[in-house]
Amino acid sequence: MKYKNNIEFAQSLDNNDPFKEYRNKFHIPAGKEGIELIYFAGNSLGLQPKTVRQYVEQELLDWEKMGVEGHMFARNPWLPYHEFLTDQTAALVGALPEEVVNMNSLTVNLHLMMVSFYRPTPSRNKILIEANAFPSDHYAVQSQIKYHGYDPEESLVEMKPRPGEDIIRTEDILEKIENEGESIALIMFAGVNYYTGQAFEMEKITDAGHKKGCFVGFDLAHAAGNLKLDLHNWDCDFAVWCSYKYLNGGPGAIAGAFVNKRHLLDMTIPKFWGWWGQDKATRFLMDHDFRPIPTVESWQLSNPPILQLAALKASLDIFHEAGMDALREKSELLTGYMEYLVYENNNGNVEIITPENKTERGCQLSIRAKQNGKFLHKKLNTAGVICDWREPDVIRCAPVPLYNTFMDIWKFTEILYSE
Ligand SMILES: *Cc1c(COP(=O)(O)O)cnc(C)c1O
Repeated sequence: MKYKNNIEFAQSLDNNDPFKEYRNKFHIPAGKEGIELIYFAGNSLGLQPKTVRQYVEQELLDWEKMGVEGHMFARNPWLPYHEFLTDQTAALVGALPEEVVNMNSLTVNLHLMMVSFYRPTPSRNKILIEANAFPSDHYAVQSQIKYHGYDPEESLVEMKPRPGEDIIRTEDILEKIENEGESIALIMFAGVNYYTGQAFEMEKITDAGHKKGCFVGFDLAHAAGNLKLDLHNWDCDFAVWCSYKYLNGGPGAIAGAFVNKRHLLDMTIPKFWGWWGQDKATRFLMDHDFRPIPTVESWQLSNPPILQLAALKASLDIFHEAGMDALREKSELLTGYMEYLVYENNNGNVEIITPENKTERGCQLSIRAKQNGKFLHKKLNTAGVICDWREPDVIRCAPVPLYNTFMDIWKFTEILYSE
């Protein structure tokens, strides 16, 4: 699309937006004098779907009325409650239903997956991650390496961009895997880097890793609900994600995990066990033989938090209705418009470090200020724009297709460049 640098154009994009009714499905936080904020922080905490209250209240009510009997007799029985989210979750990440489960939180799931898929040996003990990975991922891989008796100084390999560049070139990643793959036990990349907004080419990385005998997993914290994902066909070994960012599951929401079908029945894979991974038909015999559920559910440990599942279900229903393909189409248009307006009105002080190429980014743009970045962020914030500042010099903005508008972006650039 050829964009135009005037307000009428922004308005017309909103008028023609197939998702214009969707904004009203969310609570938009208000700032001073009740004016709706320009909310570009859906990459940190997605907004609350208005239906969440009703979904959660249903479970509160059944708990109130039934106590323990709700496990069987609640309107949505709690015993199988997590299963009500399975098909929609699978569709969202491009997986088979038996490959996905909502459980725990992201870093916990990452550890559980590494218990299974990081199995270092003296000749193959490295983990390859992207440089500037999210701190929690960094801590998790470091501690796993140490747990197995290896030294992160040697076994943790960070894939850095070339000097003077922000984005890691795919060709460099593939070359690294080609050259060092035989000593790499696990390749663990983000789907989208939280800082630069770069989306990695997951299929190519997976292929290259598998050719060298590595396991390949992804942290989709910034990818789930943002990009079109096809985990099963890309053949990734595992993936994990949180649900409070683009998935709007609420603060500390229950997280997700994917394990490729090919591993589901492999009894040689190490795994931590808990009673929610036990065969459902005989779980309540309460015996001590573990007979794992023949799906990724065998990685579950505990009976899950129903109130959190209810909140997430409300959001998944919206994603399901909208469809990820159509959402992604709007997302590309929306983010492209932000990029266009930022450059069209540029005063020379800012640059976008996120890739220009649509296939190499999601909705987030990371805007670098050459000077006075913190001041710029403060100015945006004071004027009602919710976006975040990441040291040393980046403002992260995530226009989200479910609830952000083209006018949000118009107003944002006006404030960005106001005197
Ligand atoms: C947000 C985020 C996390 C947060 O982990 P929690 O365990 O949910 O607190 C971890 N990794 C990445 C890449 C993230 O973006």
